[in-house]
Amino acid sequence: MTRVLLIEDEESFADALGFMLRREGYEVTVAEDGIIGLTQFQEHGSDIILLDLMLPGLPGTDVCREIRKASKVPIIMLTAKDSEVDRVVGLELGADDYITKPYSARELLARMKAVLRRSGGLPQEEGILRAGPVELDQERHIARIRGEVVHLTPKEFALLALLVGQTGRVLSRTFLMRQLWDEDADSKTLDVHIKRLRAKVEIDPASPEFILTIRGLGYRFVTDARAAATG
Ligand code: CA
Repeated sequence: MTRVLLIEDEESFADALGFMLRREGYEVTVAEDGIIGLTQFQEHGSDIILLDLMLPGLPGTDVCREIRKASKVPIIMLTAKDSEVDRVVGLELGADDYITKPYSARELLARMKAVLRRSGGLPQEEGILRAGPVELDQERHIARIRGEVVHLTPKEFALLALLVGQTGRVLSRTFLMRQLWDEDADSKTLDVHIKRLRAKVEIDPASPEFILTIRGLGYRFVTDARAAATG
């Protein structure tokens, strides 16, 4: 059964939505504020998250950012606001889709199905990220490289999860810094972590095949460096 985590503070709205989703065969957990929602996800996981933007405790944007540090679970943001700016902010933070209140149940269900289909799993194997030589068990915080358990610090783990979670995509330095460190952190910290990850992931850290530097932009994780270079 597909598990939905609904993070929504308006009780009447959450009740109605929860009722509708259960009727459609989803297993629904409701969290009434951002911190409870985040904790719920970190402790129990979910196949998809419906995230209200305006929440007490921790705003939806912060919840989204926190979740994306370690997970690529599909997230649909629910919001009363409707402007291009909010849309961009939501997607920039890593939300998969965005829906503006009021919306029809049919529309929401269609979006949920689309996002779940795109994420490749109905439901997906819980908390396991795999690409190339890397396997990250996010629930148990275990990293395997070519089948061998390798120790990663929490920051190394989070950085590798971001890269592997979006295999093939260039992740900008700014994005990575903002996801993992404070505003005023030295961006050399990122280079140091990349270097350490390469030492653990690459066969020859001096000529990386998986964690590629994209000059002037950032980094990209690939599973086939030659294809990435030509493509
Ligand atoms: Ca709200």
